[in-house]
Amino acid sequence: MARYTGAVCRLCRREGQKLFLKGERCYSEKCSVAHRNYAPGQHGQGRKKASEYGLQLRAKQTARRFYGVQESQFYHYFEMAERKQGVTGDNLLKILESRLDNVVYRVGFASSRAEARQLVGHGHFEVNGRRVDIASYLVRPGDVISICEKSRSSEKIKAVLEANGARPVPQWIDLNRDALEAKVVSLPERDQIEAPVDEQLIVEFYSK
Ligand code: SF4
Repeated sequence: MARYTGAVCRLCRREGQKLFLKGERCYSEKCSVAHRNYAPGQHGQGRKKASEYGLQLRAKQTARRFYGVQESQFYHYFEMAERKQGVTGDNLLKILESRLDNVVYRVGFASSRAEARQLVGHGHFEVNGRRVDIASYLVRPGDVISICEKSRSSEKIKAVLEANGARPVPQWIDLNRDALEAKVVSLPERDQIEAPVDEQLIVEFYSK
């Protein structure tokens, strides 16, 4: 399935909550969810209560849209999560969190996951000193993510760092703001993952 290229605020409105897809605007009064908190489209305000299947579907779509992952890749992550030891839902969120584009966003090297994806794709980041331009690269404990030496003088990177420098960083990542390096201390526990997702509903969705 092709990547969604429409208005991303519609996705938040469809899920009935902020998915933080647009950077700074999401924290401002301009956020569409803040003043039009109903599903988009002609029948957006007239939808009835969701069925059990509907709730499971929405949970899966929310997670997929929050992390900006396509359908087939998301299902691939679910299969990976099932094969791992532990709780499948927790494993799934850990995998999603360990994507390189997510880590770049979480530490404030990008304003949104979409921007992080683009910056990674343009080769602005290194993992353990080697350039990585694959947004879906999964980081591991001990990995060090840094901005490439050449990219540090780029106006785009400077503007992004200026805008996101004060964003809180999750406990499982150790950010050295001066060196522009982030070390993955460990993979996150569920209570360290801020995601508007009910992962159990996703497990139920795929278990049918
Ligand atoms: Fe748009 Fe961001 Fe608000 Fe979502 S959270 S509706 S992307 S401004």
